[in-house]
Amino acid sequence: MRRLARLAAALLGVAAVTLTAACDSGAPAIDLSNSGPPVDTTVNFPAGSTMQRLHDAQKITIGTKFDQPLFGLKNPVTGRPEGFDAEMGKLVAARLGIPANRIEWVETVSANREPFLQQGRVDAVIATYTINDKRKEIINFAGPYYIAGQSLMVRHGNPAEIAGPDDLSGKNVCAVEGSASSTNMRNRVPGAHVVLFDSYSKCAEALKNGQVVAMTTDNTILGGLRSLDEDAFDLVPGTFTQEPYGIGIAKGREDLVRFIDDALRSAFADGAWTTAWDRTAGRILGAAPAPPDVESY
Ligand code: GLU
Repeated sequence: MRRLARLAAALLGVAAVTLTAACDSGAPAIDLSNSGPPVDTTVNFPAGSTMQRLHDAQKITIGTKFDQPLFGLKNPVTGRPEGFDAEMGKLVAARLGIPANRIEWVETVSANREPFLQQGRVDAVIATYTINDKRKEIINFAGPYYIAGQSLMVRHGNPAEIAGPDDLSGKNVCAVEGSASSTNMRNRVPGAHVVLFDSYSKCAEALKNGQVVAMTTDNTILGGLRSLDEDAFDLVPGTFTQEPYGIGIAKGREDLVRFIDDALRSAFADGAWTTAWDRTAGRILGAAPAPPDVESY
């Protein structure tokens, strides 16, 4: 119950941070939960395609994180996720001719992303989701739409003096089940005791409580969590992997992968991608980098 209360406080905190940031930058405070890029009204898809089916239904189901500030964080008032991943979802929906309020958002944690796609519970997963060969054996990816890197977060003041992953041998480090971060950490530092939770907000709690000396995942996620609680955490400088974020799609829907790849390419070119970044992750993580090259399917 106390954890729930703290999480609720953190969620309200991020809403306050977002509003303050909006005021500080002079940008209008936009309701990110429902706004989206202009919906394409001139769509024309091949008969029988996945795109035609989604468009005709006027609905797309997207899996994302609900507890990751900057990328996918559920707004406690609207119940809808906000962040860069949510904006990518709206961008894809808009190009399918589906408005943002017709997206059905489903919470995915790291470990259930592939199963949710395979079971058809979601049409796409946009959830700080690294494209890798193991995952590509069972699902497809559009993208990448961003390249993150794995890093470490420690308690404020860094009492265990962790300067990089190799200092974690013999120590407790938190990671999330089913994440590339947990596999990378085990491979890189076999002597580390990797403590697994199902979500990053729970890892942050364990770090705060001193149950682990560090938590490890992408710099993007760590930066977002720290922005909620700057007095509690420090980021260890540097990254030690490359994590290209893709949009997960079930096997057999290669038409949708190609469509999303094209949608990303045009969003990179027309500024929609940069706008999405600036309104979300960019407020804490800084200016948008150059967009990555989309891998052709
Ligand atoms: N990008 C990594 C992954 O896809 C870590 C972040 C996450 O678990 O969502 O596994």
